[in-house]
Formats: sequence, structure tokens, C-alpha cells
Amino acid sequence: MHAADDPRRGLLDLYRPAGPLYERGEGAWLIAEDGSCHLDFTTGIAVNALGHGSPLVRRAIEEALETGLIHTSNLFRTRPAEELALQLLELTFPGKVFFNNSGAEANEAALKFARRWARARGGASKHEFIAFRGSFHGRLFGTVALTDRAKYREPFEPLMPGVRWAEPENLDSVRAVLDRERTAGIVVEPIQGEGGVTPMSAEFLQGLRALADEAEVALIFDEVQCGFGRSGTLFAYEPSGVTPDILTLAKPIAGGLPMGAVVVTDAIAETLQPGDHGTTFGGGPFVASVARAVLCALSEPALLEGVRRREAHVRAALAPVVERHARVQKVRGRGLMLGLVLNEPCAAEVVAQARAEELLLVAAGTDVIRLLPPLNVEEELLDEAARRLDAALGALS
Ligand SMILES: *Cc1c(COP(=O)(O)O)cnc(C)c1O
Repeated sequence: MHAADDPRRGLLDLYRPAGPLYERGEGAWLIAEDGSCHLDFTTGIAVNALGHGSPLVRRAIEEALETGLIHTSNLFRTRPAEELALQLLELTFPGKVFFNNSGAEANEAALKFARRWARARGGASKHEFIAFRGSFHGRLFGTVALTDRAKYREPFEPLMPGVRWAEPENLDSVRAVLDRERTAGIVVEPIQGEGGVTPMSAEFLQGLRALADEAEVALIFDEVQCGFGRSGTLFAYEPSGVTPDILTLAKPIAGGLPMGAVVVTDAIAETLQPGDHGTTFGGGPFVASVARAVLCALSEPALLEGVRRREAHVRAALAPVVERHARVQKVRGRGLMLGLVLNEPCAAEVVAQARAEELLLVAAGTDVIRLLPPLNVEEELLDEAARRLDAALGALS
């Protein structure tokens, strides 16, 4: 509980935000009330892909406000969601889109859509989902059931039943739990985020595609964190050459405004009817309007090329840091979704020490530190982050 005079006393004590009160943001910097500038390599957990105070996002918000339309509900047509859906399909695969308000909500919808389709195809018994060790898909009853973290699950059991577990990069472990009669979907993050920044190989995703096809099971890619340019391609699944049946998206999609999206193939769309699912806020004109502008920016080839160039730059800057500190094992990940893998479970300590160096980072589990800078971060700030990280690790040893 907060002390009686703590300004946080009105907030439920589910987070313990440390450090100062932030008042402004500019690019990769968060500026505290005392005027100190903190290098933000969390980007609100991979949300602010274009940095704080992005002129593009600001302009999109101002334009959206001019219409006077913030929300109408899905009882009425508005243009932004209709256009955003077509724009997304152009960049993904032929199908249909459903908008809602967060990553967990997008995944919950995906589970319902997958069950509907699988049952229409193979009968009522098809309801199970296969999830992977190290996964994170959200904190709602369905999504937390697919999330491999005891602390998030156990206090709230019973969760959604019917989840079977497999090992990442191990197709035999998928075969062992895949059941043509019972399985509705396989849910995987092409790059695991919260679980430790672990990319799935192209061969593994291709193998999942083949298994899903054989057993008539929906292949669901959760790109809530790794999607929209973060990995150096617009979607992290692209290098594998396979597409999912369902793609879930959220974090950076609307420039920091809350939005989730689910893209489904036409075959799945055909099994869904009015009334099967719904949302009050999802796809509202204000948020969708901003998302149109953000999506244009994030799908620019020059931006994606820039992410790959920055990846090479930051990897080079981090190499001597990895070399110098015994507690650092290696850098893992893709694009600007990189994890510093530690040899001991000291991620929280490193994050705290980096904060003392005015570098903001977020852990992924107990032994990985995530670096999630803005996708358009200045290259010298990648060097600056490596210097601050080096200092933090030095102070700890
Ligand atoms: C953050 C995240 C979610 C949950 O998104 P929320 O918007 O917090 O509900 C789901 N899947 C992945 C891969 C995520 O990183």
C-alpha cells in the first residue's frame, strides 16, 4: 500500500513505477519535472515507434480532431476504420480485419475466431490451443491461459481450459500435443517478447504452417510486440515466407493511442457472422484515423531499411560491452527488438542501475534486458545507450 501522503495513493498498487515524474517527451528522451533528460529505450514497451512528440503523430491527431468525431460505435459507418482495414490487408494477406483496443483483446478475439472456424470445419470437439514455453499473450482469462508465467496465472486459476504446451523451435513437441480432432489453433509470437526476446526460425514457422495445414488448425501469429517494423521488416513473419491464418497486432499501431487489430483469412472470415464478437470502442474514427498515418510511416521502405541499419549499428556498439562484462552473455533478437542476455537472474538490478545512468530499459523475465528504442532513433543515441549500459554494468560489478 502507498503511504497516506504518497501522490500515487489513488492508484491501485499493481505497478511500482520508480524514478521521477515525467512531464514531457521528445524523440528518444523523457524529460522529468526536475528538467533531467532520460534516454528512453522502452518506448512505452514497443509502442512509441516514432518516438515521443512525433510531429507526424501530432499532425494526425490534430487532423482527426478537426472532424469532431472521436467515437460513434460500430452501429454507424465511419471512413477511417474502413480505409485502415484495406491498408492493413494490402500489407498482410487477403482477408478481413477486426479492430479493438489492446493486444490482449486482439488475442482474445483471435481465440474466438479460431474456434469458430475450426468447429465449422471439423466439429465441436475442435477447441484446444497450443501455446509455447516462454510465451506472453496478455493478462485476460483466455490470453493468460496461453501465457507461460506462473506468477501471472496461478492466483487466478481456473483459467480458460484446453491449452497444451509445446517447446519453441521443437516441431516434435508440437506434434506430441497436436490433435486433429481437438486442436483449434496454434498461437506463437514470431519473436517472443516478454519471455526473453527469442526469435523463432523461418524453418520452425514453416514447420508450424505445414502442421497446421495438415491438421486443419488455425495458425495464429501474435505480432503485438514484434510487428510494424520493430524487427526490421514490416512484420516479423515475413522472412519465413509463410503467412498465418490469423495475425494479431496492437502496441505501436496508433502512435500511442490504444488500438488492437486482428487480421483473418477469408476462409475464417466466412465462418463469422454479425453478433459473434463485438466491442464498443474498437475501430473508432479518431484512433483509426491516427493509425492510418502511423501505418503509412511504419511501412515506408526507408524506415524499415533504417531499422536494419540501426540494428547493425547498435550490435556493433554493444559488442565491446558484451565482451567487457562477465555477467553479459550475448545480444539476441532482431531489428530494434534486442535482448541483452545475462548469465544470472539480475535483470532487475541492471535495469535499476541503468536508470541511475538515466537510461530507461525494461527487463524480459529475470535474465534478459530489452532494448526497444524508437525505430527512427538517432544513431549517436544508440552509442550513448551502449555507453550508459556499460557504465551501469561497471557500477554493478
Ligand atoms: C504486450 C503484449 C500483449 C498484450 O498487449 P496489451 O495491450 O498489454 O493487452 C500480447 N502479446 C504480446 C506478444 C505482447 O507483447
